[in-house]
Amino acid sequence: MTPTTTPHSDRPLSTAEIVAVGTELLTPFRSDTNSLFLTAGLNELGIVVRRKSIVGDDGEDLAAAVRSALARVDLVVICGGLGPTEDDLTRETVAGVLERPLREDAAIVERLRARFARRGWEMPENNRRQARVPAGAVVLDNPRGTAPGLWLEHDGRVVVLLPGPPRELEPMFTGLIEGRLAARATGERLYRRVLRVAGRGESHVEERAQPVYERWRRADPAVETTVLASPGLVELHLSTRAGSASAAAAVLDGAAGELAEALGEHLFSADGRSLPEVVGALLARDGLRVAVGESCTGGLVTARLVDVPGSSGYVEAGVVAYSNAVKQAALGVPGAVIEAHGAVSEPVALAMAAGARRVGDADLGVGVTGVAGPGGGTDAKPVGTVCIAVVGPGGAESATTVRLPGDRAAIRGQAARVALDLLRRSLLRSGGELAGLRRG
Ligand code: AMP
Ligand code: MG
Repeated sequence: MTPTTTPHSDRPLSTAEIVAVGTELLTPFRSDTNSLFLTAGLNELGIVVRRKSIVGDDGEDLAAAVRSALARVDLVVICGGLGPTEDDLTRETVAGVLERPLREDAAIVERLRARFARRGWEMPENNRRQARVPAGAVVLDNPRGTAPGLWLEHDGRVVVLLPGPPRELEPMFTGLIEGRLAARATGERLYRRVLRVAGRGESHVEERAQPVYERWRRADPAVETTVLASPGLVELHLSTRAGSASAAAAVLDGAAGELAEALGEHLFSADGRSLPEVVGALLARDGLRVAVGESCTGGLVTARLVDVPGSSGYVEAGVVAYSNAVKQAALGVPGAVIEAHGAVSEPVALAMAAGARRVGDADLGVGVTGVAGPGGGTDAKPVGTVCIAVVGPGGAESATTVRLPGDRAAIRGQAARVALDLLRRSLLRSGGELAGLRRG
């Protein structure tokens, strides 16, 4: 490694910007995923990402982005554009902005030649560009590619250059950058906790949670909360800075506990677990087995359940009964019930749940039937109408009808989520008492 020639101050690094370089990232075909990986790693070190930018392979745009980032934050991470071709401008542009002359590093040229030789090739002259190092830079080895990374100190700030391909960037960040940054970070890290709420909209969650998280935002140490809503699911992301995991846990436990109180049974996870994981844990807790009869979800509910390792301990069967004939033949739904209420109705959902429970010889049955669209809707049962039922031993039953928004995929996805949530609520309400009634 080239020694550092610029003396660096001991100012701790607490803010960062990421600049992603590549014209392909400005097309509809590629997105910048490196910054997500980098942000996770930086946050772990207590470094907050203040801004991200994406620039094409254009020297002027890149120079402007780097200059303005340097005026705002302690650390600038630039990824991409370190390749051997003419359009790879990052090395030259950053050297220009920092006013460092470039010189060829003989050791890098040797490594590149050896890399090509191992494959029986001669190194193209182009690749010599990748051996050009700005004065004072530390060279970061790239074991998975030809483009080395660079670490530069500039007026108490740090500039890091990394290659674009994620399979090269990721191990370099973990192996070569993280340790260097940790030595320069504040010693505090950012710790997160994710709370998840099903079956309630963002404004409902906001109404309950906001007074609580506002108080924690002003507390010392502060807990920041961001609310992320997607169809049928609201997440509260809590974060706090702390010197140790146990100190962070104490603070986050306090905030999460108060939020759990405010959100009641709508909160299904305060420890990062997904809905199928939570449902699986409740089934396992009670020693209950479930079977699912699905129409419009076409197996999605069962698929979500069996995504979880260990689900063979509590999933007995998933029956996709799409046509009315199969609802009758496979799940024993009486033709008269379909005739009287229509295929999308709570009585049919209940009969499907009971049928699945019987077919699977399970303790609990779930039934889902609905109109996923875009065709097939009526005034009484528009597209998005989904009927869901849970049937347990001893008549523990619940059924619900929901109107879900969105296209076919969204409706099917949400229907699966509502079904899993209904199952979760049944298990919560039973508080273990279903276990006493389970099939012998
Ligand atoms: P480069 O270092 O510019 O030669 O990058 C080469 C390849 O890495 C590109 O063609 C992309 O496929 C990938 N890449 C570059 N930047 C990013 C980024 N920010 N996120 C994800 N992939 C990237
Ligand atoms: Mg590129």
